[in-house]
Amino acid sequence: MSYTFSVPVWLGGKENSMELLEQRICKDGKIYAGDVLKIDSFLNHQMDVDFLSVLGKEFYRLFADCGVNKILTMEASGIGIACMTAQFFHCPVVYAKKGRSSNMASDVWRSQVHSYTHGSDHDVVVSRQYLGEHDRVLIVDDFLARGSAAMALLNICRQAGATVVGFGVCVEKTYQEGERLLRNAGVRVEALAKIKRMTPDGTIEFDR
Ligand code: 5GP
Repeated sequence: MSYTFSVPVWLGGKENSMELLEQRICKDGKIYAGDVLKIDSFLNHQMDVDFLSVLGKEFYRLFADCGVNKILTMEASGIGIACMTAQFFHCPVVYAKKGRSSNMASDVWRSQVHSYTHGSDHDVVVSRQYLGEHDRVLIVDDFLARGSAAMALLNICRQAGATVVGFGVCVEKTYQEGERLLRNAGVRVEALAKIKRMTPDGTIEFDR
């Protein structure tokens, strides 16, 4: 499957941003063993800030009326898209830090994550200073697969007494259970590209 792709043209609306991201995934994505899609040439290692800004603007359009005053994401791969989204909400970004123990456990909200790409469990923490009951949080991440990262962030918000207005994710793999877990937990999920199927030979099918 070949696509041509140039500078994104923002026409507004979810259909348009989904199409842009799908085209970019087809152009630059690589499928690795373990059901991992790499799009780190523009999303989460090298970052195409003009393109991420288009995606961030779409998250803003989707959640603009939710009173968001904080964006929460996971270290490290969610930080880029979270910051590019926060510029439209004019609010701070907080990221959950991985694998670092705090001197005082009482200073942090803590949850456990099973890493999809590394296959191991680890704790993530957020300082109590930066998340509390006055916060209306949009959780943002690069991928949604089995939902462990998103559920850990939700768990941290619930410990803090913060309100979660929703979860905005760039790429959801709809054949995995993450979206269902979040929906069952009462969280609104918005994905900018939905992958229905991908195979090691490079075929990617999208859902709308
Ligand atoms: P989950 O916790 O939902 O199973 O997986 C989500 C997390 O694992 C994301 O934060 C992301 O960093 C990583 N992840 C899951 N699937 C993929 C994938 O196909 N490609 C990449 N690059 N990361 C993924």
